[in-house]
Amino acid sequence: MSENQKTTEISEIGEFGLITELCQFARQKNKSTITGIGDDAAIINHGNLQTVVTTDLLMEGIHFDLIYTPLMHLGYKAVVVNLSDIYAMMAKPTSITLSLGLSSRFSVEAVKELYKGIEKACSFYEVDLIGGDISASLTGLTISVTALGTVEEGKAVHRSGAKVDDLICVSGDLGAAYLGLQILEREKQVYLDNKEMQPELEQNKYIIERILKPEARRDIVEQLQKVNIQPTSMIDISDGLSSELMHICVQSQVGCKIYDENIPVHKDAIETAIIFNIDPSTCAMNGGEDYELLFTVSKEHLDVIEDMFDVRVIGKISEKEAGKKLVSKSGNEYDLTAQGWQSFKATNQKDT
Ligand code: ADP
Ligand code: MG
Repeated sequence: MSENQKTTEISEIGEFGLITELCQFARQKNKSTITGIGDDAAIINHGNLQTVVTTDLLMEGIHFDLIYTPLMHLGYKAVVVNLSDIYAMMAKPTSITLSLGLSSRFSVEAVKELYKGIEKACSFYEVDLIGGDISASLTGLTISVTALGTVEEGKAVHRSGAKVDDLICVSGDLGAAYLGLQILEREKQVYLDNKEMQPELEQNKYIIERILKPEARRDIVEQLQKVNIQPTSMIDISDGLSSELMHICVQSQVGCKIYDENIPVHKDAIETAIIFNIDPSTCAMNGGEDYELLFTVSKEHLDVIEDMFDVRVIGKISEKEAGKKLVSKSGNEYDLTAQGWQSFKATNQKDT
């Protein structure tokens, strides 16, 4: 929003007035939405499909910094991170509810800016905003999103189904969001030190978009369905490849071996990692916020998976006793535990 735009305090129109304003961002698109915003509760009809539910809480100062996060992007991202969890079950999202804690520094216009992003995400992913809540807050902005989706019985993919010899696959590329965040933090410091300085963001467009405007991988789920591959396990990468792979291994009671040289990292991420003196693989393993999908499939699907768009095989599931291993580019094996990773990090300083 531009500085000189007139702003309206929420107290001027009240909570109900604000809800009425926000309704324009919640056009109902899905047949499953029987009752949306406006009653005590929403009603959805998923017929004989199973319902998948997930929720996430985003706190200002913990999960986002409004100095460099435009409200529209924040609204978009708040929805996307939830949809990513629904897709990670191989389910289809249908609806969200969204609750807000708002301190008095947020005007009606600011909230509407947030909702423009929410509406954009809902429209792109074809989900309905069917309800929410608003409360005053003493500590800035809080956004809580609950997403609902559907899946046919027996078709949901859990973290616990990986089997020995399965292929470990990831979508897209990893580590860029973390590096985008480092750039934003650096430019924030420059700005705070000298408010005349303009941030240098244009040449870092790709990695900054990865942190500010992530997408959920609906396309990967749809590709897998199209070629009739039911993954044995799946998880979305919100905390970094290392920790997500650990979840799959622990819950599936298996081990794994992945190869550093196979881990996809975007060339812009590699360049930025070098500038920050961080190993690009460290960003991919531990950076997080990529919202890519990590999944395992039976090895008989190798040819089909290799033909899939934007999917890479990075390793194999092994017996639990073989441990969880990362093979470095030079051929050394490291344990995928915090401790093992430390030793890898020692030669690849991470400056955070
Ligand atoms: P209640 O008193 O039952 O909490 P509200 O007055 O808070 O009801 O909400 C009225 C309607 O507006 C409900 O359908 C609710 O789901 C919806 N709603 C409230 N806040 C939001 C929001 N931030 N975004 C979307 N819908 C909302
Ligand atoms: Mg309420």
